[in-house]
Amino acid sequence: MIQIDGSRGEGGGQILRSSLALSLATGQAFRIDGIRAGRKKPGLMRQHLTAVRAAAEVGRAELEGDRIGSTRLRFAPRGCRGGDYAFAVGTAGSATLVLQTVLPALCLASSPSSLVLEGGTHNPWSPPFDFLDRAFLPLVGRMGPRIRARLIRHGFYPAGGGRFELEIEPVERIEPLVLCERGEIRGRRVRALCAGLPAQIGERETARVVDKLGWDPACVSVEEIRDSAGPGNILLVEIECTHLGEVFCGFGQRGVKAEAVADAAVAEIRDWLAAGVPVGPHLADQLMLPIALAGSGRFRTLPLSRHSSTNLDVIGQFVELDARVEEIDHRVVEVELRADAGQGSGS
Ligand code: ATP
Repeated sequence: MIQIDGSRGEGGGQILRSSLALSLATGQAFRIDGIRAGRKKPGLMRQHLTAVRAAAEVGRAELEGDRIGSTRLRFAPRGCRGGDYAFAVGTAGSATLVLQTVLPALCLASSPSSLVLEGGTHNPWSPPFDFLDRAFLPLVGRMGPRIRARLIRHGFYPAGGGRFELEIEPVERIEPLVLCERGEIRGRRVRALCAGLPAQIGERETARVVDKLGWDPACVSVEEIRDSAGPGNILLVEIECTHLGEVFCGFGQRGVKAEAVADAAVAEIRDWLAAGVPVGPHLADQLMLPIALAGSGRFRTLPLSRHSSTNLDVIGQFVELDARVEEIDHRVVEVELRADAGQGSGS
């Protein structure tokens, strides 16, 4: 059984999520100790527990330690199956992170799946639905599986209550991905979503972005969201290039000025634009796992975050992996993964 140390590297929930995802996709059982030891409140929180139970359902897994606050878990999958699934976090915990846990295995299952996920869809420190839909899933789609996602209702922190659906047509093998260039920038969209908050917040955020980046104000829109359970605000910047789309965001928070929300997003966008790479920091950490399962792949990105290096470590415990991270210059690295084994969902 694979033994995972949840306190290594960043010591966050990603170690658990990646372990669950890899366990399901490769059929290997694991134990983990020190879950989220690096966080202020260690152990399983609601969102992580939902991910654990979702993974157990998809993989018909034997499970020990699945309770709130638990810092240890044993997870032994007994064969993954595609099907109709509904997973609800029950709080504003991120539903997109629950998806992260089960998606790779369902992409390799022997039958299609329909998923309904409920919880936060636009939470800070998690992929917003739009990032999944416009940046991540199209790249996974390029690796073979056909995935359609549909947002039904927005869920912001802290009220949650969002909902999205996914249809997955799986494949026998995930194909390698090579993404070293982004090509021309073909389109820019700057959107602010405001739920139960003055549209003026969104207007200030979007105006600041186009002003600082020197973009045409015609690419701006402010959308009033009426379907969410509680208030929320997110700034979404989508950049469409020849070879991929990237999505950057800023999360509105009480006490943080609209301009500061925009500035944080602008700083990330500027780094990415200046580096000339296709893959931004969040796509980088999320693409590693499907690439490892594909058996090989290569992409250019910004210098790896601690989050990404920790993720790479975890992947290496499930998949025999030759990982090369080459510094091209001070702001560009090329990541190449080659795995000897990896495919096989056990279904
Ligand atoms: P915790 O222990 O608090 O649960 P964690 O390690 O699970 O933390 P994070 O380190 O916050 O979680 O990362 C969560 C995931 O969300 C990562 O895959 C990260 O790439 C993704 N993510 C965070 N912010 C964004 C964003 N703005 N856009 C896309 N993805 C994001």
